[in-house]
Amino acid sequence: MSDTPPPTPPRGYSARTEAVQALGHVDAGTRAVVPPLHVATTFLRDPDNQYRSGYVYGRPDNATVREAEAVIARLENATAALAFGSGMSAAVATFLALRPGDHVVAPKVMYWALRNWLLTDAAEWGLRTDFVDMSDPDALRAALRPGETKLVWLETPANPLWTITDIAAAAALAHAAGARVAVDSTGATPVLTRPLDLGADLVMHSATKYLNGHSDVLAGALATRREDDFWARIQRVRRSHGLILGPFEAFLLIRGMRTLHLRVAAASAGAMELATRFSNHPAVHQVLYPGLPAHPGHAIAARQMRGGFGGMLSIRLRGGAQMAIRTAARVALWKRATSLGGVESLIEHRASIEGPDTPCPDDLLRLSTGIEDVEDLYADLDRAMGS
Ligand code: PLP
Repeated sequence: MSDTPPPTPPRGYSARTEAVQALGHVDAGTRAVVPPLHVATTFLRDPDNQYRSGYVYGRPDNATVREAEAVIARLENATAALAFGSGMSAAVATFLALRPGDHVVAPKVMYWALRNWLLTDAAEWGLRTDFVDMSDPDALRAALRPGETKLVWLETPANPLWTITDIAAAAALAHAAGARVAVDSTGATPVLTRPLDLGADLVMHSATKYLNGHSDVLAGALATRREDDFWARIQRVRRSHGLILGPFEAFLLIRGMRTLHLRVAAASAGAMELATRFSNHPAVHQVLYPGLPAHPGHAIAARQMRGGFGGMLSIRLRGGAQMAIRTAARVALWKRATSLGGVESLIEHRASIEGPDTPCPDDLLRLSTGIEDVEDLYADLDRAMGS
């Protein structure tokens, strides 16, 4: 088996170097520096009935997917990672690895589709979820039920208000109550925050966003501190539900992660510049960005995010919902589209997509800063706001 990635021995390089080189794997058969794309769904059995290659069928496992997982594990300082067909499937697999009747604490501000799933299908299946203000440790403390709470779900910065949660403090509270902690770190990326280093047990990404970074792959990832029983249950859910990432998507994801550090640094610098300028813009009454000293989570963000505050910010417009929708309609360079974390900048009126129970105000525009020239991005929005 020449080109199965071996378990990668630590080479002693930084996560950035390892991601750029996709862990330095060179195909043994051809010496190609780009790993081959494995598309086979079935594998030859040995004459003595064994499967010595370790591969049997495409639903449990795939060599290209394993390569992507090895890079993600390295980026998150994790012992193992699993790649999924979407961020939602990675998150849902985590909850389905719990048992009906288990109690979960989740944030009031979180990715809206996952909150909806917890309120509907997960509740029907038997999970009991309390939603709390995760920026307030007392609110988490009050919601925890020692022995009953099995999982605390965090998202920081949390979409779309970019609320900050102190991961280390939340993990200490959750662990004292006997609960695991999982962090949706999609917005922070492993470049800026490594939740496992701060005490979390699991980290989740919509790899559709920054990890891939080019708005052309739907993918999700989980990375774990320990390969324990819970991790084995998540693996079983992925296998039985067929949630594994496709090999072509894994191949593109590996390519995307090679430039992750450059893209995140550029997007963070652009977002910081835009947040600062919009704070003084006459059409804007609030900028939500953890990099701004006035943001309530700034001090915690400055501690747990290294090298920037991410590419995501939201602005609230003085003219209310009508002005927000009109501004989004008038941009020329920003793309009026959902999603985030790609090289191209996106703008979205979030309340329109999140529906009536959203904590998102209707005068809010969510901005995913890409890597274009920030002067062009500012000028386009400034013009769209009617300046
Ligand atoms: N988590 C966050 C913070 C997200 O923004 C998204 C998607 O927008 C998801 C999870 C879900 O990811 P996916 O769309 O890849 O299923």
